[in-house]
Amino acid sequence: MYINNAKKVKCGIVGGAQMVFGMMSGIMAFVGILEVIGNDPLARDIWGFFVFLTVMTPILFYLGVNNLIVAYYSTRLNEIFLLHSDRIIPVAEITRKMSTDKMLKYLQLMLRKKCFVNVSLNYAGTQPVIVLEDRAVGENARRNHMTEYIVVVCPNCGNSNSVKKGSIANCRSCGQFIKGGGFIERT
Ligand SMILES: [Zn+2]
Repeated sequence: MYINNAKKVKCGIVGGAQMVFGMMSGIMAFVGILEVIGNDPLARDIWGFFVFLTVMTPILFYLGVNNLIVAYYSTRLNEIFLLHSDRIIPVAEITRKMSTDKMLKYLQLMLRKKCFVNVSLNYAGTQPVIVLEDRAVGENARRNHMTEYIVVVCPNCGNSNSVKKGSIANCRSCGQFIKGGGFIERT
């Protein structure tokens, strides 16, 4: 599990509430402004409140949609992460899978909101990649702890690779030899 379920549930509830309040706010603003136009004395006294609601409505909808998207995407991404065979996933691959060109923006938002654990973004290579730090939390945690992987950017093509620390591997993209750091260089 890479998903922070408590966070996901919270985003879903908060997002839903924001949508409901956004709708209520929109209806009240609409009705209120009609009454102000219709010269209702009570409505005219609190016209500022209706202006406030008019401003709040799109803000509430915006926040609500974002929270619901975060809740939905974090579930979908967790499934993709669990099924993925590599520790490194190019953001472009997720963008294709989820058919949204704002995936990087949402990923950053989700990480900022701490919707995931053991997931990070790495911008060192030619394209941003998602790095799955350790496999499932608790599962083989001890063994995973012993085997440390690092992100190595290929000096030849700029592709980001996941390499076991202290080992040599081939770039997945171009085959160039790359080193997983932590080496004592032989001279
Ligand atoms: Zn390469």
